[in-house]
Amino acid sequence: MSETKKDFLRAIVEEDLKAGKYEAVHTRFPPEPNGFPHIGHAKSIVLNFGIARDFKGQCNLRMDDTDPTKEDMKYVEALKDAVKWLGFEWGEKVYFTSDYFGKLYDYAVELIKMEKAYVDSLNEEEIREYRGTVTEPGRRSKYAQRSVEENLDLFERMKNGEFEEGAHVLRAKIDMGSPNMKMRDPLLYRIRHASHYRVGEGWHVYPMYDFAHCLSDYMEGITHSLCTLEFENNRDIYDWVIETLGLEPPRPYQYEFARLNMNYTVMSKRKLLELVEGGYVNGWDDPRLPTIAGYKRRGYTPESIITFCEQIGVAKANSTVDVAQLEFCIRDDLNTKVPRVMCVLDPLKVTIENYEGSELLDASYYPHDVPKEGSRKLPFSKEIYIDRNDFSEHPPKGYYRLTPEQPVRLKHAYIIACKEVVKDADGNIVEIKAEYYPDSKSGSDTSGIKVRSAIQWVDAASAKKAEVRVYDRLFKCEAPEGLDDLNPDSLKVIKDALIEPAVIEEKPDVRFQFEREGYFYADPVEYSDENPVFNKIVGLKDSWAKKEKPKSQPAKKQKQPKPVQKEGEVAPMSAEEQGRYDRFTHEYKLNPEVANTLARDEKLSHFFDEAVSVHESPVTIANIVANDVARVFKENGTESLTFGAKEVAELAKMLDEETISSKIAKQVFEEMTATGKSPDAIVEEKGLKQISDPAEIAPIIDDVIAKNPDNVAKYRDGNQKLFGFFVGQVLKATGGKANPKVVNELVREKLEA
Ligand code: ATP
Ligand code: MG
Repeated sequence: MSETKKDFLRAIVEEDLKAGKYEAVHTRFPPEPNGFPHIGHAKSIVLNFGIARDFKGQCNLRMDDTDPTKEDMKYVEALKDAVKWLGFEWGEKVYFTSDYFGKLYDYAVELIKMEKAYVDSLNEEEIREYRGTVTEPGRRSKYAQRSVEENLDLFERMKNGEFEEGAHVLRAKIDMGSPNMKMRDPLLYRIRHASHYRVGEGWHVYPMYDFAHCLSDYMEGITHSLCTLEFENNRDIYDWVIETLGLEPPRPYQYEFARLNMNYTVMSKRKLLELVEGGYVNGWDDPRLPTIAGYKRRGYTPESIITFCEQIGVAKANSTVDVAQLEFCIRDDLNTKVPRVMCVLDPLKVTIENYEGSELLDASYYPHDVPKEGSRKLPFSKEIYIDRNDFSEHPPKGYYRLTPEQPVRLKHAYIIACKEVVKDADGNIVEIKAEYYPDSKSGSDTSGIKVRSAIQWVDAASAKKAEVRVYDRLFKCEAPEGLDDLNPDSLKVIKDALIEPAVIEEKPDVRFQFEREGYFYADPVEYSDENPVFNKIVGLKDSWAKKEKPKSQPAKKQKQPKPVQKEGEVAPMSAEEQGRYDRFTHEYKLNPEVANTLARDEKLSHFFDEAVSVHESPVTIANIVANDVARVFKENGTESLTFGAKEVAELAKMLDEETISSKIAKQVFEEMTATGKSPDAIVEEKGLKQISDPAEIAPIIDDVIAKNPDNVAKYRDGNQKLFGFFVGQVLKATGGKANPKVVNELVREKLEA
């Protein structure tokens, strides 16, 4: 494991140990077993277990299972698997907050006796109302004056199930005027008549996170309780509970760090659950998911994930990590570790007419600069298969592989030249007849023939059929919001790829580099020698940016079909394209992907420049041009355009001025394309102006809140994830016209009031 730089948390731990505050460091990883862990959890695992390891302390694995409605043993198992797979050990046992229900209850009783907690019987709405706002202090409930005896009696009866859910709650008596809203008499217990997956039926009250977490930490002897930034304001409650109960030192302290966010990825368990339950992926271990189980099944190594977590480090500010960085880590890990073999994904038959008999060629599994040894024999004979993409009848400039005029080297074997292209009745190429140069054998080539590349191939007689699952990113855009953003090409199943026999017969490894294709993994679940299945782990190079490219090419007008670009090959830009690219990225600060799309397409570039000359807002305009305009160019060509650069500039201007929302802008663009009307006219005619006036939006929010009491209750009980639901409902109610920023602010205000 690589040496970790000292981050701010390690600095704190080191200092505490030096000062003698604790004898040893003791951390914990406290997931809620309500879904499979994801790469964000890996960050937390690597941090908590890593600190324990580095300072010779201990890290507990604790299931934070206080919500009886969503938890399940299968998630507990998945969490254990993840920690184990990443190479960490949790000691003698797994801890469960549910094991502390009895002790937690006793602590609550103690608080009541100290007059520091009371049973409140206000309803949810009143509790919220009484809490005040950020600018106004709250008021205390009249029930706060209940006597200790009455509180003890009520709390016990709550536990025994005598009351309905919501009838009472137990609250800490802290400070209704605190500037930290969380300290305004926070809830400690609520009534839930639900069976718990571990403790069964016995309990009718369940502790809230703020009460259970600090005490669980204390009881386990945790020293440093590391959590993500959203819990910053909860720290005061954490301290209050421990201090008020007068718990003997040493006590734990809470520290916050930024959670991991990654582009092209959704990371919340709720969203992952939706993908799994909706059948959008094949289970929690689908290789496209950012779950640990998914990475494991795909072929990622634990080392690569740990390296990634160490590289991103821990910080105190939220940011988004580029998924390319994770892909880099796995590529880098496998590069020198795994054997290189040949697999042909899209086989095209080649008959070498002047070759007779057969031979076994020596071929190393590792290139000469890799400090690993091992080789296999490659059967070679008259009939072989190459990849269809490695032959081009009408090659574009810069095509280095086999063409009717250009010979190519077969990796580890001979140079061949094309003699004849055989086609079927529809004109599809079905076979290449070729000739080989006997004196061009790899390693002893005296032919003097120059070739520009070496391609993979397999021998027809001995190759094995294999299924190859080519995985790509699950989402097609950087900041996916939901199902609409799924990448339709995230899985391509190739049923009849051909692979060299040694891979199946010798099994030099379970992970391979398929020459020129990328890294692949024998699927741990479905692979068999009879039906080999390989998962693509990652390509040889980051190929994502260029994938956006085909969008911008006017399909109708292409003179020569461009060959499908292979993974790892990006067509070089011409000087002119490069010049535009540089100008777009430097002068206009466009993001590289957008700049790439525009720069490589002359018409789009001109269109963009023209629009910017009308309304100087390059970023907004570039987004419209690279996405929407490019699509129209591609679908309809550029001959009979119904709109010009001026209209697009006008649309951008309305967006910039927040006259319309980005959602509505899409609608206006479609209308523009269909009717040729100006955006101004469309917005006017259809009444699409964005609504930004809070006075107009507020009643709509009130209405949504009134109609969804259950979700309001859940939100206020701590299910913050429902926030998006409310915003979504309000936007929907306004036909997408409400200004999302204003809606966000108002919804938060109203829900938290
Ligand atoms: P999600 O929102 O995905 O459901 P969560 O925070 O509810 O995540 P828990 O199971 O409650 O998930 O979290 C277990 C631990 O993992 C917590 O300490 C939490 O801070 C940490 N964790 C969860 N997600 C991330 C993330 N994206 N980055 C870093 N740590 C995370
Ligand atoms: Mg959670």
